[in-house]
Amino acid sequence: ALDIGHDLGRAILNARTFEREHRLVEELQALDVYKSQLIATVSHELKNPLTAILGHLEMLDSTPDLNGMTRSSLAAMGRGAQRLTRVIDDLLLLSKVGDPNNPVIAAPVDLHRVLDDVIDLSSIAAERKHLTIEVDVPPGAVMAMGDADELDRVCANLVSNAVKYTPEGRTITLGLARDGDQVVLTCADAGFGISAQDQERLFTEFFRSTNPEAVAQPGTGLGLAIVSRIVARHHGHIELESELGKGSTFRVYLPAA
Ligand code: ADP
Repeated sequence: ALDIGHDLGRAILNARTFEREHRLVEELQALDVYKSQLIATVSHELKNPLTAILGHLEMLDSTPDLNGMTRSSLAAMGRGAQRLTRVIDDLLLLSKVGDPNNPVIAAPVDLHRVLDDVIDLSSIAAERKHLTIEVDVPPGAVMAMGDADELDRVCANLVSNAVKYTPEGRTITLGLARDGDQVVLTCADAGFGISAQDQERLFTEFFRSTNPEAVAQPGTGLGLAIVSRIVARHHGHIELESELGKGSTFRVYLPAA
């Protein structure tokens, strides 16, 4: 009888702890939804006036007979407004891909074409730094199941990071492979690398490394948070191997179509 009483007492304690933890998880989830809604609302509110500012700047810029100082002020304002637009667009995308009420509408996507488009768009930035982009892909289409725009964004963010965080003259290797019922997108650079400590927080919003070489590059710390949310909502996963001073390899696994 003593044993039964003891077991019952322990079971009640466990149930209470479980209930407390369950409530805490629910509260945290509600807070997370609130945070996402706040970000989405604020971003929308900022976007409209910013679009107006950009329009007016463009109009002023085409005015003839502006003196040099006015023109350079306008250019500086334009750069600031463009940067704000990028941050706000990233915030809007982050809340969109983190919204459980907005699931992926999946269709077969050829990652080969996605990768080619991203390479085209990155080639100017890569050439400016004398980077070589090597591509290792099997012939033909490599079909993943997902949202084409979102998968394009995953690829674009990884490649633009590789370009940003790799010193001049080095090589970036991009690859695609089929692996059973998955496809793998690889983005490997011989860049600054990421410390083990930074790797733990790499995919959280607004995280930027304190590594001085990386900090010198422009960025918002939203790119990898967007990547990880998109991959998660596609039921994929990301692997990272990186060493400071040697480089980083990101591997994204996605369901094959
Ligand atoms: P951003 O590039 O806008 O700062 P990201 O979320 O894309 O934001 O990246 C977060 C941080 O991770 C970067 O600030 C950089 O320090 C680090 N990082 C990302 N990709 C690489 C890479 N390929 N090599 C080295 N560091 C990287």
